[in-house]
Amino acid sequence: MASKVDSSDNKLYLKMEKIEHIGIAVKSFAASIPLFEKLLNAECYKTELVSSEKVNTAFFKKSETKIELLESTEENSLIAKFIDKNGEGVHHIAFEVMNIDEEVTRLKNSGFNVLNEPKKGADNKLICFLHPKSTNGILIELCQEIK
Ligand code: ZN
Repeated sequence: MASKVDSSDNKLYLKMEKIEHIGIAVKSFAASIPLFEKLLNAECYKTELVSSEKVNTAFFKKSETKIELLESTEENSLIAKFIDKNGEGVHHIAFEVMNIDEEVTRLKNSGFNVLNEPKKGADNKLICFLHPKSTNGILIELCQEIK
């Protein structure tokens, strides 16, 4: 079977610029923000409600590494369902892209299951997700800074 992604084409990888952040599902910010502040020896620099996703986000940064904590605001949210099924833990890995529309087209054409058209997410980003079934079980987020 032909590989869906041709690793000899370096251009494919230049487009996923870097890991922008790692998203971690938590039950409670009251418990987890102090825990991550202690763990990372860094203060949470921002919290932001993303009401469309029924989720609260909290951000930490250590040099180039960013961590996003996700706390459900409603029982029927995707994060609440994730925690019910898997418990707390790594929820997604987000890659920074320069042109999210171009990347969505490229990934669709490469056989990946893109879950949504780019939409406004937390931290001034346009975001979309790839279904874990098409990415070895990892929920992948693409994000592009809104200029
Ligand atoms: Zn994220």
